[in-house]
Amino acid sequence: MKSAAERCRRAALTLALLAGVAAHAQQPRDAEPSTAAAQEAARKGLPFADRTDFDDAGAGFIATLPDAAIEGIGGRPVWSMKPYAFLEAAATPPTVNPSLWRQAQLNAIHGLFKVADGIYQVRGFDISNMTLVEGASGIIVIDPLLTTEVARAGLELYFQHRPRKPVTAVIYSHSHADHFGGVKGVTSDADVAAGRTHVYAPEGFMEHAVAENIIAGNAMSRRAQFQFGPLLAPGPRGQVDAGLGKNLSRGTFSLIAPTDSIARMLDKRTIDGVEVIFQLTPGTEAPAEMNMYFPAARVLDMAENTTHTLHNLYTLRGAEVRDARAWSRYISDALEAFGAKTDVLIAQHHWPTRGTARIQAYLKRQRDLYKFVHDQTVRLLNQGYTPNEIAAALRLPSTLANDWAAREYYGTLSHNSKAVYQKYLGWYDANPAHLDELPPVEAARKYVEYMGGAQAVLERAREDFKRGNYRWVASVVTHVVYADPVNREARALAADALEQLGYQSEAGTWRNAYLFGALELRNGVTKLPAISTLSADALQAVPLDLFFDFLGVRLNATRADGKRIVINWNFTDTQQRYVLNLENAALTHTAGMPAADADASLDLTRTTLAAITLRKTTFADAVKNGAIQVTGDPRKLLELLSLLDEFEPMFEVVEPHPVR
Ligand SMILES: [Zn+2]
Repeated sequence: MKSAAERCRRAALTLALLAGVAAHAQQPRDAEPSTAAAQEAARKGLPFADRTDFDDAGAGFIATLPDAAIEGIGGRPVWSMKPYAFLEAAATPPTVNPSLWRQAQLNAIHGLFKVADGIYQVRGFDISNMTLVEGASGIIVIDPLLTTEVARAGLELYFQHRPRKPVTAVIYSHSHADHFGGVKGVTSDADVAAGRTHVYAPEGFMEHAVAENIIAGNAMSRRAQFQFGPLLAPGPRGQVDAGLGKNLSRGTFSLIAPTDSIARMLDKRTIDGVEVIFQLTPGTEAPAEMNMYFPAARVLDMAENTTHTLHNLYTLRGAEVRDARAWSRYISDALEAFGAKTDVLIAQHHWPTRGTARIQAYLKRQRDLYKFVHDQTVRLLNQGYTPNEIAAALRLPSTLANDWAAREYYGTLSHNSKAVYQKYLGWYDANPAHLDELPPVEAARKYVEYMGGAQAVLERAREDFKRGNYRWVASVVTHVVYADPVNREARALAADALEQLGYQSEAGTWRNAYLFGALELRNGVTKLPAISTLSADALQAVPLDLFFDFLGVRLNATRADGKRIVINWNFTDTQQRYVLNLENAALTHTAGMPAADADASLDLTRTTLAAITLRKTTFADAVKNGAIQVTGDPRKLLELLSLLDEFEPMFEVVEPHPVR
């Protein structure tokens, strides 16, 4: 429950922000002189005369849709490059890092492209690529994008230029949603069930595809808004790119479970007459991922293990960190196994690389890029350096710094080195002064008090802003915002500092994070309808263990203190039995035998459970209409449910959040 004081504070903040909107236009500002100078320095330091990537990105172009505009149900826009027309400007505006501007132009190239005889790609119809391989009797689709509308549009575009044939196979290169969510745009449950379409995926795919977005899903969805910038307006003072591609498509998400699992490290298969050698790369860019080599066409598909950016060892939306050592190892293995036999290297983001010698050189640099980040971080941490010190010390070696594919558009050396530190040593830097620090609001109040009050801090911070010390201004003024979130001057100055940092960022992800932070400081948290991180398809695949664990993470320990409730669950359609046990403010479950001392026993189906999870019905209604049959005391079930929190999807990020 929110306290009365808390509600007052929120109301005051809303009024202050509304007054602010009236008094000043809370619009993005121009680049400061320090930012313009930083952009100029970036321009001088990089080989902009090298246009090879533009040649590669345009090679094999066949056709596209006007502005790649794709609509969903009722004409709702699902994808369009039209808002990015500003990228055609001759000169880079001072509000965008010139290196990111270049990447954003490359990522704006869209259409159907021929890669090699019998292999095509649809690029720029989503953040990811869809690859189409012509088989003996039909089409093999590798990675059907994030949503069904864009996948269907991509396949239709292909059919306008190549013979229309059935989709005989779908291959998911890995367990991230932008590589499988559009599957029902290229095939159907019925075709898969009848064996007309086979679905291949690396071992562990389903588990990872559904698990990653559930337990911590609410936080990840909110944080993803900062990483990708979907609520920022595209433009020179807004969203320009996400580094890996433009943005995420906004259509219908789907999932069909694989029929064939690739489980051997090198697995040779013949799919619809096409020989494919799969190379499993577990624990790299995704927990379940695989590269694939097509010997007849001499094409190597590196999935998402090598792209035209330094990728993420840690993703800003929040996820478990990735293993740079394994990542580098698998690139090395791919180079050894396939490098000398490859004419075209493709990936499931970005554009191809052509020519065996160029490909080998590219794979070596990518291999070394991840090894460099790993080894240099570990070297420094073994010398006692801590995360911010290591991040400040790392610079790409001169031989990689001028390689566009090693630049920091998606991952950065800074946050990737922190991922390596976290993997080995965790969050604690071993300085006991940091072992039990005050939480942010308490600390902020003391900082501001010690520094002579908010006005004194802001005066000095404005001087630093003029000098271009935006990182410092953002850190110090955040204390003022946390000490007093209705201080409009503090919010405005913090926003201005984040904005200049965003303008200077080479990483699309950092730019989006900074600019979205600035937007929320100026205008408050964006109000959006609740978004479910689940779809009916994904939900069918969620194991019951994970479902009960997800109930557990919603248990409000304060309200549950001292309570003991035991419920038997009997799933009549799947013949599964679970006991859910609340005790010591922890919810645990066991499978198998029902508990003799249960307060209540439920008979239900998984379909009913899915309907409840998708909020199509409620437990109370399902009990009332008989979809759930209760023996024992039904009030105990309702009491247990009343102890579960509903997560707020749009929680505060750049300002203190109320106690919920
Ligand atoms: Zn991807």
